[in-house]
Amino acid sequence: ANPIFASLPTTIFEEMSGLARDLGAVNLGQGFPDDPGPAHIRAKAADAVLNGYNQYPPMAGLPELRQAVAAHYARTQGLDLDWRSEVTVTSGATEALAAAFLGLIQPGDEVVVFQPLYDAYLPLIRRAGGVPRLVTLAPPRWRFDRAMLEATFGPKTRFVVLNNPINPAGAVLPREDLELLAEFCIAHDAVAICDEVWEQVVFDGATHVPLIALPGMRQRTVKIGSAGKMFGLTGWKVGFLCAAPELTRTLARTHQFLTFTTPPNLQAAVAFGLDDSGDWFEAMLAALQRSRDRLAEGLAREGFVTLPAQGTYFLNIDLAASGVAEDDRSFALRAVREAGVATIPVSALYEQDHVTTILRLCLAKKDETLDKGVIRLARAR
Ligand code: PMP
Ligand code: GLN
Repeated sequence: ANPIFASLPTTIFEEMSGLARDLGAVNLGQGFPDDPGPAHIRAKAADAVLNGYNQYPPMAGLPELRQAVAAHYARTQGLDLDWRSEVTVTSGATEALAAAFLGLIQPGDEVVVFQPLYDAYLPLIRRAGGVPRLVTLAPPRWRFDRAMLEATFGPKTRFVVLNNPINPAGAVLPREDLELLAEFCIAHDAVAICDEVWEQVVFDGATHVPLIALPGMRQRTVKIGSAGKMFGLTGWKVGFLCAAPELTRTLARTHQFLTFTTPPNLQAAVAFGLDDSGDWFEAMLAALQRSRDRLAEGLAREGFVTLPAQGTYFLNIDLAASGVAEDDRSFALRAVREAGVATIPVSALYEQDHVTTILRLCLAKKDETLDKGVIRLARAR
């Protein structure tokens, strides 16, 4: 077996959801809504299955979806993507990440990565032969500065992986931080692989700035999105890879030997959802923001201190600041076993041996789920 994968534990998301299933716990761990998702988009997917979208679609994705993705990003982020040469549909952002890492990284390339991080990054980067160089971000702001980048970028730096808005931090990086990162990418001639799956989920009127839009970044950025997050249909696994034609050629070559295509009925439904997006997105965002506030208020009533949550499905508790004398993993295991509520210990999303007291909760849940989760967390204190 390849030691990179053979030595890995089951991901924390599956571990906690598995415990929640086995124990019948309230699941505020893995990030998914507990409602069925937008009915008009689900109806379109069902309709597409009944009406012929069942054979292999084109390798790069259905033209109608690639056009819809380019139009969506033009409308919401001011980007000028050519759908034919710059948009590829993948089976979730996870496959897009794999295509970028396996297709672009060469053995020995150094890859700057920020942690806490999404847990798929490091094993895939290493399997591609990349050498991760980690920048550790600290709560409550989770920001980097020039000194941190200077200590991490070097002559072998070829790639930067940026997740923004940040899972698990719930942070949205300001433009000035992105400008600083762009300056380093350009100075080191590095390609940025930007995991922007949470781009649509930003609160309090904040704007998500795509790194690809900054001066000098258009030709050197791979932008990754996910319909799962845009529509709260996380099991659908429809992702997008957007990049300049030269990068896209390599990414598409890689994609063709990872999954080749993505279920066509889901692609058709996502295209429909993107075209029809206006009011629905606003309503979804308002509902998520209300859920964030309800969860934060409930936790505060029970004496838990939370960190600012500017975007994503996630709200973090600072256990130490809340007077809990226990690390996040041990609290999370006790909470699911003894109090019946699953959460994600953020220490699982660092490279290794990094202990935190930060507990990630999924806020994208019905009111009664959130309320029940809060009561059970209070019981675990
Ligand atoms: N990147 C990040 C930061 C994520 O949070 C997720 C999903 N939780 C993914 C990638 C994977 O997205 P998908 O389900 O579309 O593969
Ligand atoms: N992105 C989801 C989360 O952060 C989980 C995805 C997964 O289970 N791999 O909760």
